[in-house]
Amino acid sequence: MNETRLDWKILDKCNYTCEYCPWKHDIKLPSQTKEELRSFISSLDSDIEIYLFGGEPFLHPRILDIIEIFNDQSQIHQIQTNFSNIAIKRLEEIPSHHRVHIALTVHQTQISIDKLKAQLQRLKNLPPNIIIDDVVIMYMDKNSFEYYKVTKSFDIAEIEFHPVINMGEDNNSYIDDYIDKSKSPVYSHLYNFKRPSIEIEGVMHDGNELWRDMERGTYPLKGKECLYKGDYACYTPSFEKMNCPLGNMENNICTVDLCPLICGSYDNYEDEDTQIQF
Ligand code: SF4
Ligand code: SF4
Repeated sequence: MNETRLDWKILDKCNYTCEYCPWKHDIKLPSQTKEELRSFISSLDSDIEIYLFGGEPFLHPRILDIIEIFNDQSQIHQIQTNFSNIAIKRLEEIPSHHRVHIALTVHQTQISIDKLKAQLQRLKNLPPNIIIDDVVIMYMDKNSFEYYKVTKSFDIAEIEFHPVINMGEDNNSYIDDYIDKSKSPVYSHLYNFKRPSIEIEGVMHDGNELWRDMERGTYPLKGKECLYKGDYACYTPSFEKMNCPLGNMENNICTVDLCPLICGSYDNYEDEDTQIQF
């Protein structure tokens, strides 16, 4: 395998209903056996972090087996979770000799401030084999800062904001939304829309410049090979490999004008130093 980044969408089902969710929530749960899961995970490169997302990964009927296999195979991993009750219950069942790395995502439309406090307290009480790598707060409006302050008071991990993007119905509508939001004072204060550099045909391109070239149409992406080609892979719940997690690819050719993966980075919010004008 040559990938430098691996994602695995382990199921589609979710117990939340975020209005900005880009995914279709198939309620069917995966039915692989533990041995099938072991065989798939063995085929991955254990030195490359595999990032699990969903849906809500802790609804997967074999999530504890997956964690056991990760530990048996020393697979670097991170599991993204909305830390709802069922997720925390599963985390509480993990045996103390299994380490698990998790990343929390806070969806303010789905959890009240009081519930957030209660869930963070439960997480704080978990044993040290449950490692919280970071917390991402989906940034929607000024209420998001209340969620930030509460989360910060628990001091459990680094906190980042991630902009909510309305994915819309057609292939390119999320791009308009992203560009609109990137121009607003709050967004541009919170995120400087840094993009990672990327190698195309052996030449390193500055991510910011490449994004601007795509916006201006001087680098027409549509009709070209995927920017990530062999570098990135996302696996489906049934272990199929797709290079574009948004399905913007046909016969290995990109079908959109801008690549959302290239604009996915963001800055940390520094509350004391940042004067936000709403
Ligand atoms: S928690 Fe994530 S997967 Fe679930 S509805 Fe919200 S955005 Fe979608
Ligand atoms: S949108 Fe998808 S297919 Fe197009 S460059 Fe980005 S990852 Fe590749």
